[in-house]
Amino acid sequence: MRSDDRLREAQAVPVAEVVDRLDLKLKRVSAVESAGPCPDCGGEDRFAINTQKNVFNCRVCGETGDGIALVRLALKCEFPAALDWLVGAREIEISQEERARREKKRAEDAAQRDAYAARARAYAIEDARNIWASAVGQDPAPAVAYLAGRGISFPSWPPTIRCLADHPYKRKVGGRLEEFHRGPAMIAAIQAPDGRIRAVHQTWIDPDRPGRKAEILDRDGGALPSKLVRGSKKGGAIRLSPMPLEGGCLIVGEGIETTASVLVCAPVEGASYWAGVDLGNMAGRQIKIEGQRHSGIPDLEDEDAFLPPRWIERLIYLQDGDSNPAATRAKLLAGLRRAQARCGIGRTEIVAAPPGMDFNDVLRGEKPDGDDPAE
Ligand SMILES: [Zn+2]
Repeated sequence: MRSDDRLREAQAVPVAEVVDRLDLKLKRVSAVESAGPCPDCGGEDRFAINTQKNVFNCRVCGETGDGIALVRLALKCEFPAALDWLVGAREIEISQEERARREKKRAEDAAQRDAYAARARAYAIEDARNIWASAVGQDPAPAVAYLAGRGISFPSWPPTIRCLADHPYKRKVGGRLEEFHRGPAMIAAIQAPDGRIRAVHQTWIDPDRPGRKAEILDRDGGALPSKLVRGSKKGGAIRLSPMPLEGGCLIVGEGIETTASVLVCAPVEGASYWAGVDLGNMAGRQIKIEGQRHSGIPDLEDEDAFLPPRWIERLIYLQDGDSNPAATRAKLLAGLRRAQARCGIGRTEIVAAPPGMDFNDVLRGEKPDGDDPAE
């Protein structure tokens, strides 16, 4: 095989097959996802593959990519070695016809995956808009009490946060949607840059313990995340304040609670406060640099990452203290550099919470590693 054939051959190995060949122990969590320990940083369920998108992702070390990248991560080897491991080291001649046949098959498989993904996304966005619409005019009291329990009371309630009194918590199990919990939930609109709602951020809360999220368990008694995003969050944000003014300042944190905690203290006069939903969305793709896990250099081709309005002058990213500050910082830097390059933002900076604390701990005067009702 010629070297470009070997590369395409390796790229065509589905990530699920790579998982099998590496003998990684993953559990099926939905029709298209399996999760388990990360082959690099361990844990229990931080690592997941999506057979639909044909990618893997670790939410702790942040590694993501295709089958070849997974081999490199798991076997801690360089690109050529990963290629050898996947498709063999020998250069084998294949006929022109066979090459054409494989090429056609790969194109068909990719087109089929894209079409399925587009349908699934459209359906999820429609579902998100239905959830948002169903919360019109509902009493926001449970969400107000939840945030108040965390020391957060908005000077004026954001129109982007609503509440549902009895919202079902559903997840796919083996391809079927099952209900695991039902109760009050804070529903936040995730708006695309054009202002349209393309996703909702849902937080199930415990009405008996203000400030605490609901405890939701799977069938084996394992904890499930009490927050779920439905729809397409790409490039979106939860706008806790209105659009910033011309020459103004935008402050972006990851979650609602963190961002709202800073809003309450209002450190910058006239600033707007938006939650960027997650670090991946705020950071976007980074350029890979050999020998560096996170380069902090944005891949400017990434059209899915968050970008601020072009007319602001100052952009601040909030950094919560967590287990991997270097990786988090590199991600935030990538996002800020993207905003500078793509939107010409004049001043960008990262403001970090003290080590081991998030901004809600700071607001409530907690000590590091104190009892955190958040998790
Ligand atoms: Zn990991």
